[in-house]
Amino acid sequence: MSEFDLIRRHFSALGPARSDVLLGVGDDCALLDLPAGQSLAVSIDTFAAGSHFFPDCDPAHVGHKALAVGLSDLAAMGADPAWSTLALTLPSADEDWVRAFGRGFAALSHAHGIRLVGGDTTRGPLSVTVQVHGFVPAGEAIRRGGARPGDLIFVSGTLGDAGLALRRMRDGAAVEPELRMRLECPEPRVALGQGLRGIASAMIDLSDGLAGDLGHILQASGVGAEVDLARLPLNAMVASAVADSGDWSLPLASGDDYELCFCIPPAHVDALHRLAGRLEYPLSAIGSIRAGSGLLWHLPSGDILDIQRTGFDHFPDRS
Ligand code: ADP
Ligand code: MG
Repeated sequence: MSEFDLIRRHFSALGPARSDVLLGVGDDCALLDLPAGQSLAVSIDTFAAGSHFFPDCDPAHVGHKALAVGLSDLAAMGADPAWSTLALTLPSADEDWVRAFGRGFAALSHAHGIRLVGGDTTRGPLSVTVQVHGFVPAGEAIRRGGARPGDLIFVSGTLGDAGLALRRMRDGAAVEPELRMRLECPEPRVALGQGLRGIASAMIDLSDGLAGDLGHILQASGVGAEVDLARLPLNAMVASAVADSGDWSLPLASGDDYELCFCIPPAHVDALHRLAGRLEYPLSAIGSIRAGSGLLWHLPSGDILDIQRTGFDHFPDRS
């Protein structure tokens, strides 16, 4: 048995057994059964050491986050997670690293009922690619293009925590454990995404920051929006960083939040409040959709924040 066969063994039975997996890891292909009446939602993301995570990051956290970003994409469509595939490129057969990576990946797989059904293992610079597959009832996926004037704009959780953690790590400063977890182990908002089917008119997950990601909803929907910055959900550390500097880029453009941003027609606000009562994290109304185009940011002072002038393009390219 080669060293890489040993590694493959770690991934031969990962995640909960599912009756729709006719054949999982071990043959040339997996064989999967898509239930009648469901569309398949598919997304893939690559994580390269050095650009997407620090090479010395806890491998269990790398395993968690590599799957979490895919689950966040499924959540943003309102999909139910089902299957994953995993392409691992490793510089050497470091079994300790692989075992811990698998532990993080498996724990999140069990939490969301998603089964690893195949993958690839090769030698090269450390990189992880995860594809996720989910089900969504035909016609019920929540796309970016459905926002209409008058809809309310909501976000889940808090914004800018991961950005603040990353800023501190780049500065060589100490990072509060709570902030580090928000960067390295984001919790994908899967139950919220599923619950918003039939309620939200448009949705996106926040991977690049609210300014850019809400912009994608506006562009796809052909509408504009106003956001009240005083209503952004910020934890105390991010709020004081913003207050000290007057710089809103942490909550608006630092990325890696993995919260959901979604639009709610006024007629669905009561349904949203019932859903919010079942969640362990807050949902905050931050603004509204309006006819036309453009995104107006109202500062707490009553002034308008000019994003062009403050220039968010000094932020690192996150491709
Ligand atoms: P093939 O050469 O036919 O593509 P491989 O030798 O690459 O097959 O893989 C053998 C089996 O192990 C396949 O079922 C494949 O999906 C699975 N596999 C390989 N690497 C991984 C991995 N990192 N995670 C999950 N399954 C994997
Ligand atoms: Mg083959």
